Amino acid sequence: MKTDRLISSITRSGVEMPEHGRRFFWRGVLMRNTRCIVCGEPVHDGRNISVDDYNSVSCASHAPERCFVCNRFITGSRVVVPGYGYACKECGKPRSYAELEKVRLSINAFYAKLHMFIPGYRLVLLPGQTMLDKYVRYFDVPPLGAAWKEDGNPDYGYRVDIMSQQSVISMSSTLAHELLHLWQFYRGLEAPTPYAEGFCNLGAFLYVSTLNEDEALVNMSRMMENRDADYGVAFRRLKLLYDMYGWDAVVKAMKETWS
Ligand SMILES: [Zn+2]
Ligand SMILES: [Zn+2]
Ligand SMILES: [Zn+2]
Repeated sequence: MKTDRLISSITRSGVEMPEHGRRFFWRGVLMRNTRCIVCGEPVHDGRNISVDDYNSVSCASHAPERCFVCNRFITGSRVVVPGYGYACKECGKPRSYAELEKVRLSINAFYAKLHMFIPGYRLVLLPGQTMLDKYVRYFDVPPLGAAWKEDGNPDYGYRVDIMSQQSVISMSSTLAHELLHLWQFYRGLEAPTPYAEGFCNLGAFLYVSTLNEDEALVNMSRMMENRDADYGVAFRRLKLLYDMYGWDAVVKAMKETWS
């Protein structure tokens, strides 16, 4: 006997629909008025198409490169980011300090509400190639961000380097992640890598979930699908703790286990 039970499903029109009807419905929506984003020809055959995370469709034969940052099909000019491949024009252009500062203030406000206080730090924006040159000892692709303890600097104890060739959403996720490394380091927590990274990613995930943009949802779903033992698996383990007992329980576990 089949015991699976559909708990809830909702369509864009807000009408409940059973699973088989839903598949039919989406196929209908997809096929109507759909044109290849490259050649502009109508797409008739649902099996022979390629779709990006934003529902842009192309003939399979025209499937364009995807931007490594936002995962969109790249249809206009593209930017080569060393180690990663191609970014769309928007994600590949270097971000400004004004954009970064706006992001920083917003993350500060978010963490302050969670009673997470980050020690003073210096922020540095660097293009991909400069990041790569600087971190060539550690990585073969430029890191999106990195946190440092700066012993010789009398004004700031810490520094965060941010790769400037990423979208505002990606920069937000990166900075929110790095700041929780500073939080851990400042408190002398010595969590093993999976918990240190998983915790930082949980903070980044929660911050990005407050941003009301399609790319934020794509960023979050990529985190949920990440297979890496530290950034993916350990992150989801901590997220489960968060889902059941809340943020304070996660912080308490980190403090009690690793201090
Ligand atoms: Zn085409
Ligand atoms: Zn992009
Ligand atoms: Zn990290």
